[in-house]
Amino acid sequence: MRNALDQGGGIVRLAPNWVPRSFCVPGRRIKLHPDDYYALGGERGGIDERWFSSTTPAENGPLTGKHEGLSKIVFEDGGSTQLVILRDAVAELGAELIGGRLWDEFQAWPMYSKFFDNKFALPHHIHHRDEHAALTGQRGKPEAYYFPPQANNYGAEFPFTFFGFAPGTTPDQVRECLVNFTKGDNKITNLSQAYRLEVGTGWDVPPGILHAPGSLCTYEPQTASDVFAMYQSLAQDTVVPEALLWKDTPADRMGDIDWLMEIIDWEPNIDPLFRENHFMRPLPVHPVEEMEAAGYLDKWICYRSAAYSAKELTVLPGRSAVIHDAAAYGMIMMQGHGTMGAWNIETPSMIRFGQLTHDEYFVSEAAAREGVRITNPSASDPIVMLKHFGPRNPDLKLEA
Ligand SMILES: [Zn+2]
Repeated sequence: MRNALDQGGGIVRLAPNWVPRSFCVPGRRIKLHPDDYYALGGERGGIDERWFSSTTPAENGPLTGKHEGLSKIVFEDGGSTQLVILRDAVAELGAELIGGRLWDEFQAWPMYSKFFDNKFALPHHIHHRDEHAALTGQRGKPEAYYFPPQANNYGAEFPFTFFGFAPGTTPDQVRECLVNFTKGDNKITNLSQAYRLEVGTGWDVPPGILHAPGSLCTYEPQTASDVFAMYQSLAQDTVVPEALLWKDTPADRMGDIDWLMEIIDWEPNIDPLFRENHFMRPLPVHPVEEMEAAGYLDKWICYRSAAYSAKELTVLPGRSAVIHDAAAYGMIMMQGHGTMGAWNIETPSMIRFGQLTHDEYFVSEAAAREGVRITNPSASDPIVMLKHFGPRNPDLKLEA
């Protein structure tokens, strides 16, 4: 593990980490070979997710693969290519990899990001806050969305997302929908409102807020937790099993509608200024002219949560720039090619299931602080990468 870190000058290369979901239909925008979206077999469902910098196993039922969801480090050892699980490397290297600040608090890498590439919308669902998730031994789960232009050549079946409930909705109306869950269509989104999704922007979704994510391909930084409950019984003619309504309910609250109501953080769900408080248009990290003069453009794309943050970094054609960050991060290439520190970086247009790439890395806190030189040899094509950070990035000044 130390060899892998030394080889890369404090940056480790990661292998593509594909995850199937039996309840989703692949949107086919995450660059897998067209023959490989069902590479794990029909029973497992299509592959509609690629997870980044993940130390979190996927919860996909009894057929889940041994290391499903866990990112792996790729390194060379005496002429052969080796893989080691990122979670094990974090446990072994600790502060050396993720920095003392996060290691002291979590003794783990506490977030991951993913591409979520679903052809249809998801049912209106909710992630529990810490106090409710703790009752089943889990952590609450905030999540954020960014819709990268490079992965959204089409918006698929329903590029609109429902959030919360329309202002004026009463708890009794929501309660009635939950009581009706097993009676066919419980019509819970009739009480909600949907927003048209815009490529190149995003949303912040704290736990306790209902959401039915639309069908754009989504880059999704989130807390390392898979806690959720589905509150919508029928989504575009797909029936949602009742088991998913009661997922992550403590045994003594099973069947108790009051429990489901307690999970809802009511006021933020009916916020008349929901868009103003949760929509994210990218913000420049420094003055644009200053950055362009130095050969790059760095933007905050997820910046409303203390649980994680994310940036989109562009290095302009023919330019080279040293980029400094105060915290460790994972990254995924979206466009272009060149070098990043000791590594070649590139953006494959198609990837076979199981094939290794040079498009995903994890940068240690020490390397991030020292600065990473990124060089773009192309005369015309920018390098664009997305970077995901852990909790309370010291570079990010959160409002209020
Ligand atoms: Zn969600």
